[in-house]
Amino acid sequence: MNFREIHAKTLLAHVKQPDTWFGLRYNMNLYRGCSHRCIYCDSRSECYQIEDFDGEILVKVNALELLREELARKRVKGVIGLGSMNDPLMPLPPRYDLTPRILDIIAEFGFPVHIITKSDRVLRVIDTLAEISRVYASVSFTVTTADDALAAQVEPFAPRPSARFAAMRALAERGIQTGVTLMPVLPFIEDTPENLAAIVAQAAASGARYVLPSMGLTLRDRQRAHFYRELDRHFPGLRAKYERIYGARYSCESPRAAELYRHLDALCQRHGLATRLPLYPLQAPRQPTLF
Ligand code: SF4
Repeated sequence: MNFREIHAKTLLAHVKQPDTWFGLRYNMNLYRGCSHRCIYCDSRSECYQIEDFDGEILVKVNALELLREELARKRVKGVIGLGSMNDPLMPLPPRYDLTPRILDIIAEFGFPVHIITKSDRVLRVIDTLAEISRVYASVSFTVTTADDALAAQVEPFAPRPSARFAAMRALAERGIQTGVTLMPVLPFIEDTPENLAAIVAQAAASGARYVLPSMGLTLRDRQRAHFYRELDRHFPGLRAKYERIYGARYSCESPRAAELYRHLDALCQRHGLATRLPLYPLQAPRQPTLF
């Protein structure tokens, strides 16, 4: 992977619509590109204009200064999201490993946070997360399969699911809210009751509080082209089935979705897991003070 330094104009994007999944008020991406290079990654889509997703990571090297300035001006202490377009805890050269220092600033300003990751490197920031969780912190581990061997094919450079569950247990033991984003669920590869059962059982055993599912994936332009090349490599014959069933559709839900949602609900109930994220309560804006 190559790294290229860029200077961003702003860091925190305001989430305009109420975010019912994660309760985000602000969203931030420290990087463009992601070294985990999952075969299904939506960030390869043309609309994000990341020209060499599998070869280069752009680093917002002024992120620390920007965050400090922007948080000082915020009147609403809403949840800051990390991890929507890259894994904020992917392995990076120390100079570009911004997330630990970003979390220090978030802790200093007393903002709540939600992180999506596939990385057990989250354990490096466990003390900071414990501090932030006095306000609110939630860490969602994306797990699309409980099978390490299958994960090596679909998420080749990410830590294996077994490592993610071990990290989840460590966070839960520190009292940090954690759970699973079970998405995407790849049709004809991961959409089986057995896969869901294995993920839910391991999540429950690792101290998860929730599982957030989406039984399918989205596909468009060069993301689809890359995904189909990888299907040809690892799952010969499956591409033709995708093309026949989904054509040029963006939303590619598993044909078994209804059955799988029911199955997941039953599994979560049995294990005492929520299927919605326990959210940070919305805060009223701070009134400017006169004195
Ligand atoms: S970890 Fe997430 S952002 Fe990174 S390549 Fe995988 S799907 Fe994309």
